Amino acid sequence: MAETISAEPLPGSAGRICVSLAEPTPARLLARITESPPGDVVELRLDALEPSIREDDGAVAALIAACPRPAVVTCRSAEVGEEGSARREFLLELALRCGAWAVDVELDAPFAQRLVTAHRPRVIVSHHWTDARPRDLEDVAARAAALRPAIVKLVAPAAVPADAAPVLEAGRRLRSGGQPAATFCLGEGGRSSRLLDFAAGGALTYVAGSGGVATAPGQWMVDWVHRDLRPDGWRAGAPRYGLLGDPITHSLSPAIFNLAFALDGSGRAYIPVTGGDFAQALKLADAAGLAGLSVTMPFKQEALAACFPDEFAARIGAVNTLSCDGDAWRGHNTDGPAVVEVLGRHLSLPGARVLVLGAGGAARAAAIALIDAGARVVVSNRTSGRADELARGLGTDVVPWDRVMGSTADAIVNATSLGMEATADNGFPTFRLSGAEVAMEMVYRPVDTPLLRQARASGCTPIEGLEMFLVQAAGQFRIWTGEEPPLPAWRMAAQQRLDAERES
Ligand code: NAP
Repeated sequence: MAETISAEPLPGSAGRICVSLAEPTPARLLARITESPPGDVVELRLDALEPSIREDDGAVAALIAACPRPAVVTCRSAEVGEEGSARREFLLELALRCGAWAVDVELDAPFAQRLVTAHRPRVIVSHHWTDARPRDLEDVAARAAALRPAIVKLVAPAAVPADAAPVLEAGRRLRSGGQPAATFCLGEGGRSSRLLDFAAGGALTYVAGSGGVATAPGQWMVDWVHRDLRPDGWRAGAPRYGLLGDPITHSLSPAIFNLAFALDGSGRAYIPVTGGDFAQALKLADAAGLAGLSVTMPFKQEALAACFPDEFAARIGAVNTLSCDGDAWRGHNTDGPAVVEVLGRHLSLPGARVLVLGAGGAARAAAIALIDAGARVVVSNRTSGRADELARGLGTDVVPWDRVMGSTADAIVNATSLGMEATADNGFPTFRLSGAEVAMEMVYRPVDTPLLRQARASGCTPIEGLEMFLVQAAGQFRIWTGEEPPLPAWRMAAQQRLDAERES
């Protein structure tokens, strides 16, 4: 074993990431173990081994003794069957003798009490429900805690994110009573609860190993967890923030916010809240006590209705930032100010003629903020009715989409989602540029878009979408923390990520 087995209770002061591995043979299991990050614990699912190997004491002992990471050894009755109870007990005892870091025994196993009494600091007592919102949650939590194991692990499925709220609450209660615990939910609806519990002081969170083979639904990938979430720096009790959106898999927000919190050593965490509609995700964020939320597509309008918006967000009709104020959410929009800040670095805005492409939430935020800053805004959108409606509300002019290429402006802001596909010709208009214009892109993936290509080819000033992304995120950071974000570090990290994507 790479790590000395301690007689102390397992969790110590910090939780551990546990890479869950289920393979049919010891050779395949050992290959997967060595791919897992050195600081992590691995879960070895003995129930997934071929029955002939599981029956072979020597093979199991050799596997556990050869495991180069601290191992949580599990042998679930659902796979082995209740009739295998004596064998399961033997295997868990054998695992402890061979140096396992811990064993996981089910609360209802007939030998659970015996195992805990004999090996208390190295036994996890677990219970798994098959129904969401189990009625006997409190009773089971109390029974498990009464055994006083190293860790109580409670797992239930979640159909929607809010189903996880009582399970997370059970974990909080166990820990406040001095019992280390990991309590979370399975499935897409439970995905976020795995992180929320861990950030609140959960003793273990189970993740899928490198290569991405999950052993239970809703597990996050270990590489992504370390790279974007940096959970080694999270501290229970420190404020936590979240991201609401769908999809959020490619968002850079978790990477940059968790980078900021890792750099300042504050122990704060930023967690994606996924797997349901906006209302469900917000309920879970509420229950988990998150202090602030980024809101991204397609939830920005719904977020407005769920909060007390500030004057600017109310005028735009969209919220991209929520901050918790007691029992209520305050709503803000940092997209509009970000456009003004970024464009204003290259152009004096008062009196400048700015063509805004699009009529969605981002276009609206840009147009309103630019008008507030004194610019003369003209809008153009594929669906003319939406452009007319936006322009009417703002008292600005509209350029028809099929004639937009001929329009002249000091700056062009692309607030459509055109450009997100890196094709040479995806329907984006070809402008007649003089070379004096500033061309601001909101799309940041891919880095190179039709607008930026045209701007570079014509000698105009191109502004990549990443600039706006960083500035709107900086606005969120200030709203939540009152602090300045580490913008140079953010820019470098985000740029590296986008460059790597471009090369891959
Ligand atoms: P939205 O409300 O869904 O609006 C999408 C806009 O794109 C609409 O005007 C739509 O026109 C237009 N559009 C979509 N497909 C088109 C096509 N094939 N041809 C022409 N126009 C098309 O989205 P949003 O929230 O405003 O966001 C717009 C873009 O800005 C997205 O790419 C988003 O990622 C980006 N954004 C970036 C940042 C940042 O920080 N960099 C911040 C906010 C937004 P119709 O009305 O005709 O459908």
